[in-house]
Amino acid sequence: MNTFEHDSDNAVSTGHKWTPVLRGDIYCSPGCGGRCKKADYDKAVEQAGFVAAALGYGWKPHISENLGWHYEVTKGQCTVTPNRNGGFTACVRVEGTEREGGQVESLGVIEAQDMEPREAVQKVLALLGGRIARLQRVLASSSLEPLELQVQ
Ligand SMILES: [Zn+2]
Repeated sequence: MNTFEHDSDNAVSTGHKWTPVLRGDIYCSPGCGGRCKKADYDKAVEQAGFVAAALGYGWKPHISENLGWHYEVTKGQCTVTPNRNGGFTACVRVEGTEREGGQVESLGVIEAQDMEPREAVQKVLALLGGRIARLQRVLASSSLEPLELQVQ
């Protein structure tokens, strides 16, 4: 599955497989071939900008093409995407780290939904905070004490 990260400074040009080409009301790249509509692109750009503005400083809209025009708004490792019901999903994805020997340690993915993008982000951050608090309790409950205190 190919996803084209759209560069609005390079909107109407040719020559690259994932560069969208405007022909009438179709705005689609050769690599996609889904006959994506210019109106859908315009709508994605408008909605991404609206959501980014609603979320505030640091949130960046990203428009992508993959058999249709899509958008997401990101800050750090949090991504907000629109749902089919008109609401939004906020997702925090904590990348796995590879330990010695190739074992991958994953901290996971947390998602929350709401009809309002700010509420969705607040919910997912609350879930993340709850997970961090649980991890801190696990850490504290299993901590090592100095050896001299364990004798007798
Ligand atoms: Zn397309």
